[in-house]
Amino acid sequence: MIDVHAHLCFPEFDRDREEIIARCKKELTAVVLATARYGECVEALKTAGMHKDFLFPTLGYHPTEGSDYEKVLDLIKRNKDRIAGIGEVGLDYHWEKDLQKQERQKEIFSQFIDLAEKLKLPLVIHSWEAERDCFEMVKGKEINIIFHCYSGPVDLAREIIQHENMWISISTNICFSKQLRKVAKMLPLDRLLLETDSPFLDPDRERKRNTPWNIKLSAEKIEKETGTPKEKVLGAARQNAIRAFRLKL
Ligand SMILES: [Zn+2]
Repeated sequence: MIDVHAHLCFPEFDRDREEIIARCKKELTAVVLATARYGECVEALKTAGMHKDFLFPTLGYHPTEGSDYEKVLDLIKRNKDRIAGIGEVGLDYHWEKDLQKQERQKEIFSQFIDLAEKLKLPLVIHSWEAERDCFEMVKGKEINIIFHCYSGPVDLAREIIQHENMWISISTNICFSKQLRKVAKMLPLDRLLLETDSPFLDPDRERKRNTPWNIKLSAEKIEKETGTPKEKVLGAARQNAIRAFRLKL
């Protein structure tokens, strides 16, 4: 199995990162490292360098993250051959209600889209409550597009998967969210990715630290919902991850 979105370079993993990665290696085929700010990007490059062919970094900049996105753009250019994609990048209207600032998010996002096109790299999109605008901005682009932690409407998901270069990534939130179960139920197996967004979205709310192997809990939920055996769900999601990120395992 492959977790396509884990922030293993967050401080939550500082105390035992290598142990966590060792357990990941036992349970998973690969983990795609997500990043949301400059410092995390630098760490992700370093950590992935120590676990080649297992950790695949993507470099990104969260839409609500302040002002050093240019440093991230530059880092991507300098490391284009060492990364599996650009992200997470995108729009967040959940945390940002100010229309002018939303416009600013779009300007920054479009710079990342342009760079992904130029470097022909997959793009991992954060689209909280801004799924429609994100979709409109990337429609027609000839790069692989991953809607990370998708939480938008079923109708839009249906539109997204009409595009062969787009995938919807289902997070461990599926363990709580009825809405997300509806999306998963509609998704054909070849459009589905699985992610934890570790350390966030722990299915065990008491423990409060998610880890990549928990995608198997999502697969169990999907089995319950659709009747598709969890092994088949995990296998399909793994194949899709290899394709979407062009992973060389
Ligand atoms: Zn994330």
